[in-house]
Amino acid sequence: MKRIAILGATGSIGTTALSVLRDRTDLPLKVVSLSAHNNRERLLALANEFSSEALCFTGSKEEGFFHGYEGLKAMLEEYPVDIVLNGIAGFDGLKASVAILEAGYDLALANKESVVCGGELLFELARKHNAKIIPVDSEHSAIYELLRGREREDVSSLILTASGGPFRSRDLSTFDSISVGDALAHPTWQMGKKISIDSATMANKALEVIEASYLFGFQGDAIEVVIHPQSIIHSMIRTRDGAVYAQLGNPDMSLPIINALTSMSSNLVSPLDFNHLMLTFEAIDEKRFPLLRCGYDALSGQGGYPLAFNAANEVAVEAFLSERITYPRLIHTVQRTLDHDWTFTPKSVEEIIALDSEVRSKAKELM
Ligand code: NDP
Ligand code: MG
Repeated sequence: MKRIAILGATGSIGTTALSVLRDRTDLPLKVVSLSAHNNRERLLALANEFSSEALCFTGSKEEGFFHGYEGLKAMLEEYPVDIVLNGIAGFDGLKASVAILEAGYDLALANKESVVCGGELLFELARKHNAKIIPVDSEHSAIYELLRGREREDVSSLILTASGGPFRSRDLSTFDSISVGDALAHPTWQMGKKISIDSATMANKALEVIEASYLFGFQGDAIEVVIHPQSIIHSMIRTRDGAVYAQLGNPDMSLPIINALTSMSSNLVSPLDFNHLMLTFEAIDEKRFPLLRCGYDALSGQGGYPLAFNAANEVAVEAFLSERITYPRLIHTVQRTLDHDWTFTPKSVEEIIALDSEVRSKAKELM
């Protein structure tokens, strides 16, 4: 039996993980601890249902439970586990990833912001504490599987698929009037609000290109993105001989989440029915999705640019979600923030947090 902690247990990733565990009591996984930010009612109900031993509220102080990020660290130390699922949303998830690796636990990582903002530092921590980082993001989980047992030199590029989101074919002249509801209506995936907006703008794919670069050691020019509206192919790799290998499946996060937690699973998702399957592809239109280019530029800019891309985007998405800015303004804010000089490379978690605050102030000023 593998002992696990699920952070961000009340969110979309956490809920998917726990609903698989609810249905599949045969899986050799025992929920030891859980975290949420503020959602007390839901976390207590989950703790009760899964008989977890410890709880942490990272946002609010709740009597009798661990709280804050210090509390999260203490919980991970006092209640040992084998692996932690980090399903926290946003930049703060980095602090959790650092705590997990410092405790020497393997990290099943959904929180892509950790890799984008922590970069090399995260992998150094993993090496130092002899811990593994296993991707949960569906594209990266697919590539992780595809690269297994293959020589790195034999692979010429990674191909990330993108659904194209809700605005793949919307008339460009109507982008001024995009509402929050329009942007949240993702055609193939059910996810949290932040990542749903990022899928509409393709900032999510930009973050994933950066994530893939750090996880697998490929430069931006060896990471391709192609639109594949059905979201059946989760990602592909191109080998030097010209062949392309793909992972296919119905869009369901259960597979990447559980695959990261245990290799002992079977029949996780419904089998693909080839009698009713159509797969199509489209090139990316950079005028429609300018933030994808912005993400590639941030990756090649190195230094603090990837972090700056993430921070500016988080600020702009939050403002869009609370209807303080329009969709075009969201895009504009990220682009203008990236025009500034972010060449300084943060070398510690403290420097990363300080730079993140600096970028956020700049983005708010430019909004
Ligand atoms: P949600 O918004 O649905 O859930 C976020 C979870 O994190 C909640 O449990 C929330 O607690 C908690 N949380 C929110 N803010 C903080 C904070 N500052 N510190 C600690 N905990 C916090 O997000 P998703 O599940 O959609 O996404 C989680 C991560 O996984 C993101 O990084 C996303 O990019 C990534 N991901 C998600 C996918 C998906 O299918 N949803 C697919 C691939 C990657 P509370 O409920 O108390 O607010
Ligand atoms: Mg993804």
